[in-house]
Amino acid sequence: MAEQLRTSRRIDAMGSAVTGAWHHRTMTVWAVLALGFAAAFVAAMVAAARGRSTKFVGSIAGLIALACGWVWWSDARMEARLSEAASAVAGVQVHVDCQEPFFGEWMPTRGAGRVDARDDGSMDDVAHLDRKICTAAASWPEDDTDDAYTAVHVLTHEAGHVRGEANEAATECWAVQNSARVAEALGASRPRSERRAQWYLRAVFPRMSSTYRGDGCTISGS
Ligand SMILES: [Zn+2]
Repeated sequence: MAEQLRTSRRIDAMGSAVTGAWHHRTMTVWAVLALGFAAAFVAAMVAAARGRSTKFVGSIAGLIALACGWVWWSDARMEARLSEAASAVAGVQVHVDCQEPFFGEWMPTRGAGRVDARDDGSMDDVAHLDRKICTAAASWPEDDTDDAYTAVHVLTHEAGHVRGEANEAATECWAVQNSARVAEALGASRPRSERRAQWYLRAVFPRMSSTYRGDGCTISGS
């Protein structure tokens, strides 16, 4: 039963990775490259079967297709994992969009993360995250570092915007109070997650600009 549940959750995560990539970014450069080289592989192998000497070129194209496909797939899996943890805590579907490896990193980013407001003033359901934030958040809980937890906090903050809050101080306070739950959803124990949330409140929060601090914020029970 537990195994069944895990498998179905894994399939859900895979499904949201695929629909996420299609729905929110149409397709990534890596996916396009993988498909292009896969098509070249097929064409070369068909030509080889007809007696042309394209087998070697075709094999190279096939290997490049696999490599590009792997980059795309591992990125999509990371986004699915972060999306799942953020959504579970936010109570709404949060689609995490990590800055694409290599190609996306050419684009300048505005800060660690952002959620766009729609024309009607409501908040979009896509949390755009800087590449470094994505990889640091994904390294939690294996990496129990300040950077990894701060990235988990940023993920929580953006999830707070997706819930519909545009105000920075209110969103940041919600993140202070809920980042431990996201940290736990990513696989850390509760005591460790709560300890880290307290660390953020003591060490990082006071250094934020007043836009984010508002009238101050506490974690209940602390
Ligand atoms: Zn914000």
